[in-house]
Amino acid sequence: MHYDAIVIGAGPAGCMAARTLSRAGFKVLLLEKERIPRDKACGGFLPPRAVKMVEESFGPLPSSCFAPQPEMLGARLLCEGGGDYELPFSSPGLAVERGRFDAFLAAECCAEVRDGMEVEEFTALRFRVQLKARGEKGREEFESTYLVAADGAGSLALRLLRPEFHRLYAAPVLERGMLVAGEGDMDWDSQWMGLALLRKDAGLARFFRRGDLVGLAVNISPGKEWKEKLDRLLSFLEERAGLRMRGEMVRRTAASNRMAAAGQYNLGAGCALLAGEAAGLLDPWGFGIFLALESGRVAAESLVESAGERITPHVRYRYRMKEILEREAAERKGLGGMVGDFDTSSLATGKTARRDRRALARAFRSP
Ligand SMILES: Cc1cc2nc3c(=O)[nH]c(=O)nc-3n(C[C@H](O)[C@H](O)[C@H](O)COP(=O)(O)OP(=O)(O)OC[C@H]3O[C@@H](n4cnc5c(N)ncnc54)[C@H](O)[C@@H]3O)c2cc1C
Repeated sequence: MHYDAIVIGAGPAGCMAARTLSRAGFKVLLLEKERIPRDKACGGFLPPRAVKMVEESFGPLPSSCFAPQPEMLGARLLCEGGGDYELPFSSPGLAVERGRFDAFLAAECCAEVRDGMEVEEFTALRFRVQLKARGEKGREEFESTYLVAADGAGSLALRLLRPEFHRLYAAPVLERGMLVAGEGDMDWDSQWMGLALLRKDAGLARFFRRGDLVGLAVNISPGKEWKEKLDRLLSFLEERAGLRMRGEMVRRTAASNRMAAAGQYNLGAGCALLAGEAAGLLDPWGFGIFLALESGRVAAESLVESAGERITPHVRYRYRMKEILEREAAERKGLGGMVGDFDTSSLATGKTARRDRRALARAFRSP
């Protein structure tokens, strides 16, 4: 069977690409290796612009996707040895349950969705993609004119399309992101997402409170002791926010790739485009869902706009993404003003604030 476009991965980037292409009249196949709803270690926080983008493309989010106490006001940043800052959103954001949220996007993307199908290999020629995927019934082959690969941080597509780029830039900074959750209590308003900036290059950790549950998210660089990092975060939060954990903590890991921190992105080649974390688009605050949605949409629009033209869509996609990547870079430098949906003006004045702002900028840059 021939498709106009095949999309790999039913995360936010893949579902948004599939939805945009289907709306434009393309015949689209979306392949996902896990069974939907699939589990994803994620805080599930959506800044207001992500909520807006989802609702414009997929319609109102059903309340079944919401996390308990879903309205989010922004983030509070606690710096070790430094200040405590409120970074409010320009309008409320949302907390969602990731499995159900992604399942909603897949159900509403209007493409043919095949879950439990892992893409194992493909070749992408000019306007012709041949792809092999394995499901319960064995191996199947598919063909399409275009490909959007949105297969996440450990992207097979990046490895196949750009082996050298993968070896030099993506593989060395592939980390595990760990989400640890358990029953607990802390002096923390659950409408605020927590950010903790730890000293000695331990980077930016995230935490949240939902009812009786406390969640902590840390990145674990290869070869580094994750337990030490988690213990530091726990004792820091005990001291600064009265954290008291009770009983067992559940650990879930997910891949995350920090190649974007060093300004390394890869948007694919020819008629095969990469979107979301597969392209290296990871938001420094941890709000990767918005960038995934945005790049999925721009990738799909670039395909639609290039159809029937002689230029390959990758050229158009790169051109359109340039603006977005420059905006991201400018926003990181603009700490102390509006950064994305955050009002970071509390970081603008005072000696401590200036020092914490520099430490934060360093944490954003170091891969
Ligand atoms: C601990 C943690 C907490 C986070 N918290 C937040 C948060 O609160 N807010 C936020 O905005 N972001 C958060 N993020 C980041 C966010 O989860 C990612 O940026 C986002 O999921 C990227 O979306 P994506 O569509 O690019 O990739 P993914 O969501 O990773 O989707 C990729 C999909 O591709 C599928 N796939 C992979 N390989 C194949 C294959 N070979 N064949 C077929 N399918 C395949 C995968 O199963 C997966 O479903 C967090 C990340 C971590 C690690």
